[in-house]
Amino acid sequence: MITRREFVATSATAAAGLAIGPSGAAAAPSPTSPVSRFARPCVVASSNGIRGVKVAYDQIVAGTDTLDAIIAGVNITELDPDDQSVGLGGLPNEEGVVQLDASCMHGPTKRAGAVGCIEDIATPSLVAKAVMDYTDHIMLVGDDARRFAISMGFTPQNLLTEKSRQDWLRWKARLNPNDFWLDHDDDVQIRFTTGTINMNAVNATGDISSVTTTSGMAWKVPGRVGDSPIVGAGQYCDNTVGAAGSTGRGESNIMTCGGFLCVEFMRQGLGPEQAVLKALERVVATTQARLMGSNGRPFVDLQFYAVSKDGRYAGGSLYEGPGFAVCDERGARIEPCVYLYRQNERPRRG
Ligand code: ASP
Repeated sequence: MITRREFVATSATAAAGLAIGPSGAAAAPSPTSPVSRFARPCVVASSNGIRGVKVAYDQIVAGTDTLDAIIAGVNITELDPDDQSVGLGGLPNEEGVVQLDASCMHGPTKRAGAVGCIEDIATPSLVAKAVMDYTDHIMLVGDDARRFAISMGFTPQNLLTEKSRQDWLRWKARLNPNDFWLDHDDDVQIRFTTGTINMNAVNATGDISSVTTTSGMAWKVPGRVGDSPIVGAGQYCDNTVGAAGSTGRGESNIMTCGGFLCVEFMRQGLGPEQAVLKALERVVATTQARLMGSNGRPFVDLQFYAVSKDGRYAGGSLYEGPGFAVCDERGARIEPCVYLYRQNERPRRG
């Protein structure tokens, strides 16, 4: 145990670090697991993490801690104003406010951190890590998460870019034919949108970490928190087994505890590919009737990404189509997800 005085002193030092760079805390100890004979470094992510997996992999082989490396990987997209799925530029809720969720787990030290519904901070993944590093809690939400982040040295900023604001206005104008909003003169259809990055990594000594960050579902009800900040749903990591996380309809994943379930299937001996497919089958089994088409297939889609302690990996999707990002000794690339159903089996809502 450390005293409160020591804790405050450590936090103040680390806050200065957080303000200047994503590697953030120098405080967290990082004991490594016994060297596995079979470990091979590997980073796996949703396809929008393609730039990040390369950065994370390069850092991991250079000796950076797996969690610091994957957070550096997702920070690239969180800070990219042109990406509308996470962080700065993420699509807002129905009131035009960007509300972000994130969580992370550090396998070697068995710790987790999360923030839900945080506003004005572009890198919620780093705030989640700060919750993990500097508090005895796991999750902070809403305005208190924002105030915590500011106290840790993060700089608040307006996250709603002009592009995302225009998309929100288009969505609003087309929401109801009988409202008082005039249609935009362009004919761009704004569809319901999702977007998230989950990234998981293992290093040469078999240490594992996971992180998930998101602006959640576009146009969501204010205050809605998805699966991404839920430890065990949006991501999960067990240093003795592997890590997994998810993108897609968060509510379906929360009902399945999908990140945890994938890891548990790997613990039982399944490889990552079989584990994600079996978890997807559970998603279907737990889907409410109102979300199912008459052909017994869900209207919604969901993906899982998993890496095992020995460096095997997989991405899986309910429906054929999405690829996932991976980087290992063969470089960064997009590979196709394994899937349960073909696109032509996906029912359309009436
Ligand atoms: N899983 C995210 C959420 O429900 C959305 C997404 O992945 O697109 O908040």
